[in-house]
Amino acid sequence: MNTLSPVAGAVQALAPAPFETYICEACGYVYDEALGDPDGGLPPGTRFADIPDDWACPLCGVTKADFSAYAAPSLEALRNRVQTTAVVTTRGGAAGVLIVGAGRAGWQTAEALRALDASMPITLVTACSGDVYDKPLLSVAMARGLDPEALVKETGAQAAARLGLRLLAHTQATRICTDTHTLRTTRGNLRYDHLVLAHGARTALPASLPPELCWRVNHLAAYQKLRTALGDAACDGPRDVLIVGAGLIGSELANDLALGGHRITLLDTQAEPLARWQGEQAGARLLDAWKDLSIRFVGGVQVAQVESVGGRYRVTTADGQRFAADQVIAAPGLATPSRLAESAGLAWDQGIAVDAATLGTSVEGIHALGDCITVNGQASRYIEPIARQARAIAAAICGATPAPYALRAATVRVKTTSHPMTLH
Ligand code: FE
Repeated sequence: MNTLSPVAGAVQALAPAPFETYICEACGYVYDEALGDPDGGLPPGTRFADIPDDWACPLCGVTKADFSAYAAPSLEALRNRVQTTAVVTTRGGAAGVLIVGAGRAGWQTAEALRALDASMPITLVTACSGDVYDKPLLSVAMARGLDPEALVKETGAQAAARLGLRLLAHTQATRICTDTHTLRTTRGNLRYDHLVLAHGARTALPASLPPELCWRVNHLAAYQKLRTALGDAACDGPRDVLIVGAGLIGSELANDLALGGHRITLLDTQAEPLARWQGEQAGARLLDAWKDLSIRFVGGVQVAQVESVGGRYRVTTADGQRFAADQVIAAPGLATPSRLAESAGLAWDQGIAVDAATLGTSVEGIHALGDCITVNGQASRYIEPIARQARAIAAAICGATPAPYALRAATVRVKTTSHPMTLH
């Protein structure tokens, strides 16, 4: 009987340690022990030490070995940093660094520059609000019951204040004048010493998919509107959603919207989803995992026409099949907009051609990274390389110890939560 008391004493002495957080060095995803990663098989409360070695970062697919302990900087530290910066950025003359694009690539570049230089003037120009969020989570938000607004980790204004930079939100960059080192924008001309293009890519719509009839889910604002249009399946009833393109984004959205209660038809020109990873049987594994979900996959078809008919949509394929849908989502692949690059005369190879080590473009003083670039003619529109690219560019601009970028075989985390996969 009295054997109980030492045990109780031991339990008291071993009161659980507070939950810790760990950051993915590759992509910046923060693992919180309190929240776990339920989609990846880690229930809330899973300690980092207990995570199996083959667990994959839910954003980028690297393993536990690429994580390190992380504590968000204190408010006081951030305030000190901003004060220092605010004083020094008034120094005369220097135009500093101008970054175009406030997605992951743009913000990671700003972070990497600030880590090396607290005083350099930085201006960030973006066509959107500049809010900071993990874009890959757009593909899992509905099944997790997350409102799109909840994905914002930091508003653009907050991030700009924290990093001591000037943010020009809702501003279109229209032309680069290389002779005067000037960027023309819808809010006036901006001078630069260094220009970093991080404006990403956009959905490449064929003529058969008119933009006014199809959703393109490549940023938060568009995703918010789509979610509003779909409503809540539990309250408003399920919607028929037709998704064109069963690559990474199309497959992840199909998975998520089906888990959210909607009825999905997924079309692709290939015979199975994720056809790029056929060698790893990705499509077969996915279709097997989807057996009990409301996802109808139709492979080997080409969309010929989308029409608006009585408040719904009719999609006709080249071989004459017809599908009716409440909403049509286009996910046929991405292409880099070329207008800015052309205005500067940048070398182009299905994207902004950059040097594999320096990420420099063909024009002195202009770097590029992320979804808008190609290295040796290859785009790699994945999360993992972006932070490394940003560090390479920041080191080059700041004259710090060179941190050359190294092209690696990409690891891709497929966030189809009913069957998450890491592909190579
Ligand atoms: Fe990661």
